[in-house]
Amino acid sequence: MSEYDFMLKRIQKLIIDVPDFPKSGILFKDISPIFSDQSELRNLITAQARFIKNNGRDFDKIVAIESRGFLLGALLAYETGLPLVLARKAGKLPRETVSAAYGLEYGSDKIEIHTSDIKQDDHILIVDDVLATGGTASAVADIVDSLGGKVAGFWFLMEVKGLEGQDSLINNCPFIDASDIEVVLS
Ligand code: AMP
Repeated sequence: MSEYDFMLKRIQKLIIDVPDFPKSGILFKDISPIFSDQSELRNLITAQARFIKNNGRDFDKIVAIESRGFLLGALLAYETGLPLVLARKAGKLPRETVSAAYGLEYGSDKIEIHTSDIKQDDHILIVDDVLATGGTASAVADIVDSLGGKVAGFWFLMEVKGLEGQDSLINNCPFIDASDIEVVLS
């Protein structure tokens, strides 16, 4: 096993599974301990930033999804040098926005991006912590699309198996195939 694989195993061990949160039947993936381990966090972000820069896709911007996606997205943006755009829950962004509604593994919500943050033909990497049904990331992709951007890839730390989130993203985004979706801990 490579040093990288060992590092991923250590990251995996830091994540705490919390049953029945925020409601019965949901196994919540608590990634917050990763942010208390500065050595592993640095290893993870350095390796992933290198991957994002060298995977042959020319991203112009990272769009990070509220809220844990902000933590990872900001670090990846810093390390790659890519600009960061925030996709926030409805009502949080102060300037003109475009929004999209989505269903969640637990509930439903609405997400928004500042209209001025995406320019025509911007190649966008969408970043979040956990891919579940894919509803949130698909809604963000819809906003990017409606603002004239091109969704060029997705990055997730992990996914909830059995919810077909990747299939949902591929169905929703005509330019995307499985190779454009990076799930670090799979
Ligand atoms: P979805 O839209 O169903 O793919 O849900 C993804 C969003 O909900 C992400 O922003 C995650 O942070 C959060 N999420 C959904 N399911 C879980 C889970 N089991 N554990 C932690 N976060 C989750």
